[in-house]
Amino acid sequence: MSFNSGLGMERSYYTATANPFTPAPKLEGEAQADVVVIGGGYTGLHAALNAAERGFSVILLEAGRIGWGASGRNGGQMIPGWRKGTGDLIARYGESKARTLFDLALEARALTSERIEKHNIQCDLRTNGHLTLATKPSDPSWMRDEAETLARVMNYTRTRVLSADEAAAAVEAPGFHGAFLDEGGGHLHPLNYALGLAEAARNAGVQLYEDSRVSRLETQSGVVAHTAQGVVRARYGVLACDALLGDLEPRLASRIMPVANYLVATEPLAQSLIANDHAVSDSRFVVNYFRMSADNRLIFGGGERYTPDPPADIAAFAQKHMLSIFPQLANARIDYAWGGLVSISMTRMPHIGRMGDLFYAHGYSGQGVLIPALAGKVIAEAMRGTAERLDILASIAPPEFPGGAMLRSPLYVLGMLWYALRDRL
Ligand SMILES: Cc1cc2nc3c(=O)[nH]c(=O)nc-3n(C[C@H](O)[C@H](O)[C@H](O)COP(=O)(O)OP(=O)(O)OC[C@H]3O[C@@H](n4cnc5c(N)ncnc54)[C@H](O)[C@@H]3O)c2cc1C
Repeated sequence: MSFNSGLGMERSYYTATANPFTPAPKLEGEAQADVVVIGGGYTGLHAALNAAERGFSVILLEAGRIGWGASGRNGGQMIPGWRKGTGDLIARYGESKARTLFDLALEARALTSERIEKHNIQCDLRTNGHLTLATKPSDPSWMRDEAETLARVMNYTRTRVLSADEAAAAVEAPGFHGAFLDEGGGHLHPLNYALGLAEAARNAGVQLYEDSRVSRLETQSGVVAHTAQGVVRARYGVLACDALLGDLEPRLASRIMPVANYLVATEPLAQSLIANDHAVSDSRFVVNYFRMSADNRLIFGGGERYTPDPPADIAAFAQKHMLSIFPQLANARIDYAWGGLVSISMTRMPHIGRMGDLFYAHGYSGQGVLIPALAGKVIAEAMRGTAERLDILASIAPPEFPGGAMLRSPLYVLGMLWYALRDRL
């Protein structure tokens, strides 16, 4: 069992349909590079690839298997923008900075497609848009405001609000009050995207290591990363461990919080449930999200759990949420079920920045398929001496969770249960 297996990853749909990938060796002995990247998910892989393209020698250390963290397990939904809507961004940061942040998020969307195209990554990319279904009768009102603000302030005209009838035609699920369509969204096979990035990094000269958990970091001058059987000395380090960071860097741990989330994949269905192959979420606080796979299965995620132990039956746990939206699937076989840890921040904005020679990016709060392409690029730019964009992202750092790393969980659970209860009411 590797460091980042568990929660059913071995039996996930993504593992069963993964493209071939030659495993990387374990780090043994001493090594030196310009940059050591810790973590082999989207963040680490983009940072490594961008650094290598800018002429740095790069070593990437992955504790388990490359892509087996959140990056290889997620819903595969490409949702443009940030986890917080534009109205929230403007209220929090003012119009000018909100515009800058929104443009950065659009760049992330573009960079993701460019990477997939440039490296010919076979990851079932679909670019028909992302749909947010209106769960409450009041949702279409904020959706209209959001579409209007996006057009007026962000000059982004790819969104529109669908009526209840249009939503019902788009997704075969009863009872929604409308929907918000963002034509810039889409979906992909998340693990194959990660493995494709790893292959691209390898081709760019990055030395990849798996089964090489960093147990200790020295950051006084440059970065020294120690594993059980080796050590890497580098000018710069990138911490890209997201929800699996643990206590490796206590100065960062209290900014993010891991929350477990579970998915199922049905058997291949005779007919698609989503007319235009959108990626779809609903507007609940504890969000349900789903899409069709390339072989016409419904891939459905929903229902968070705030206790560290997984449900006894992951399939039954996620299936219950699926049937609340698609009752017609009562007899559909569940072929795969798995879960993963999402790292969330207090503000739902990521925590990106640097401490001396150590860069970090994590806490995408459930919207981390696209942003890592930007985070990795901006970190590499800063290593090359242009820190302007990193500084912008660092300026929105989320605060620590109340209670710090020790107490964040019980306090947070109380808060989340309150919002989950509001969803139900
Ligand atoms: C169930 C689930 C569903 C999601 N759905 C969506 C979605 O539909 N759309 C969306 O935009 N986002 C989604 N997300 C979020 C998204 O998957 C993440 O934000 C993103 O994958 C984070 O990438 P990462 O590289 O930062 O972290 P990860 O992919 O988790 O990679 C971190 C890596 O660091 C390694 N690591 C940890 N500690 C060490 C160490 N000490 N030494 C070496 N390596 C270490 C881990 O093994 C891991 O491989 C979802 C997440 C989950 C869990």
